[in-house]
Amino acid sequence: MARIVQKYGGTSVGDVERIKKVAERIKATRDEGNQLVVVVSARSGVTNELLARARAVCEFPSERELDMLLATGEQETIALTAMALHGIGVDAVSYTGGQAGIFTDKVHTKAKIKTIDAKPIVRDLEAGKVVIVAGFQGINEEGQITTLGRGGSDLTAIALAAAVKADKCEIYTDVDGVYTADPRVVKDARKLAEISYDEMLELASSGSKVMQTRSVEFAKKYHVVFEVRSSFNHNPGTIVKEEVAYMEKVVVRGVAVDKDQAKVIVSNIRDKPGSAAKVFRSLADANVNVDMIVQNVGRQGVANLTFTVPQTDTAKAVRALEPVLAAIGGGQVTVHEQVAKLSVVGVGMKTHSGVAATLFQALADAGINIEMISTSEIKISIVLDLDRADEAARVAHSAFDLDKV
Ligand code: ASP
Ligand code: MG
Repeated sequence: MARIVQKYGGTSVGDVERIKKVAERIKATRDEGNQLVVVVSARSGVTNELLARARAVCEFPSERELDMLLATGEQETIALTAMALHGIGVDAVSYTGGQAGIFTDKVHTKAKIKTIDAKPIVRDLEAGKVVIVAGFQGINEEGQITTLGRGGSDLTAIALAAAVKADKCEIYTDVDGVYTADPRVVKDARKLAEISYDEMLELASSGSKVMQTRSVEFAKKYHVVFEVRSSFNHNPGTIVKEEVAYMEKVVVRGVAVDKDQAKVIVSNIRDKPGSAAKVFRSLADANVNVDMIVQNVGRQGVANLTFTVPQTDTAKAVRALEPVLAAIGGGQVTVHEQVAKLSVVGVGMKTHSGVAATLFQALADAGINIEMISTSEIKISIVLDLDRADEAARVAHSAFDLDKV
């Protein structure tokens, strides 16, 4: 007998037929003699619909009331899942986040979990019940309903797995697991049997997000090993954990492309202490998320600063920069939206050299120009022309033999 936490995302419980399928799957796991905690999301699209309704009645809805509203999405699915289980003879009980003992801080719409009192859940498990918990929500010390930020059901599942000391945590979604590249773009992409937390986090921040980032960080911190797999088939998924066995030759684990980036160039600013500080202070104050930064060598007292921001932030960035340029005397801002960021990720890079050279040579052989470069211990990212991004992903994928096991 094992204690298992399963999480089913929005598409897995998208309609009543899907909910019945999920109930069959839960029953099968329970019938093998396991104790089971199940976390469910709202049906896919419901959270967005609720948000749209909130905005239709009020331009700036109160965050407390938003949480009150959004939490209902998951409440619908926990009740229906429990009923579907009753319908096939499985003893099950549904709980809201608060009822499941998930206590958060006070920050509405993006609360952090502070503690989980798992005793009531454990009691139910030991009494033979399947416990169904609403993802994405908790309760604060004042008894108010809070939510954990978009995609927060993943966090609920990981945190509960830690709290009930689960033997296994399974995150069911609509993809088979984590791939070496986007299979829609790179047809030789392979599903990874295993990936480390750090690689998963770097891939997510590079544009191939399978799960909420905070939940992966939480799993890393509390050593929760979990598996990402599909609820639409029985294929094994990808196991996410700290240490992943590396075959000698495997240096790069995966390739990610982010097409939602824009490149901003601030040119002809004075090359003196404080210019960069002012530029990036103003962007930070405007909540613009800056990613890669390159400053060229100053000539004749002027320099250029180039950086990338999410495309949704470009207008905000340009607006924030106007007063700064006036203050530091001169400079122009240009924006290029036809760019993409390509990243190769792998913990093997820590101990292998030549990864950058291999990548750059492969791109050069394909005649693809590199506009910006940045590296971390386990990642190399480049900015390139949007039109060449898919081709570059294929080139990088085969340059690192990711199509071969
Ligand atoms: N229903 C919430 C959302 O759409 C939480 C989740 O699905 O994980 O963001
Ligand atoms: Mg979701």
